[in-house]
Amino acid sequence: MNRPREKECLFCAIAAGRIKAELVYEDDRALAFRDIRPQAPVHILVIPRKHIPSLNEIGEEDRELVGHLLRVAALLARRESVALSGWRLAANCGPDAGQAVDHLHFHLLGGRTLGWPPG
Ligand code: AMP
Ligand code: ZN
Repeated sequence: MNRPREKECLFCAIAAGRIKAELVYEDDRALAFRDIRPQAPVHILVIPRKHIPSLNEIGEEDRELVGHLLRVAALLARRESVALSGWRLAANCGPDAGQAVDHLHFHLLGGRTLGWPPG
């Protein structure tokens, strides 16, 4: 019962077009849109259309989907002209990582020097 239902999920609503976002990519399995509170000049969220709450819930059947998300991220890094300057893909999982939206998403960050380790 603590698993968010699809109709209550913000990113499912964005994927369905019920909530507007600045889309930069979409296909039948994935979409990407600009983060509403960007932490870097390039800050894009890459998500699956399928509702997967977090990295913890990725199943064997999701292997190809997750690989596809990584390829979309690399494509967008090229499009956003950060492929050579450098970029980071981050997925927050669970409370200690500060995951705020329980729908799997990868943050694509670039356009500035990114500190390491992250906070
Ligand atoms: P996380 O903390 O990893 O769960 O990241 C959630 C991200 O979603 C944050 O960086 C938010 O700024 C972003 N976010 C929340 N609502 C929206 C929205 N409506 N459109 C775009 N990004 C959003
Ligand atoms: Zn969802």
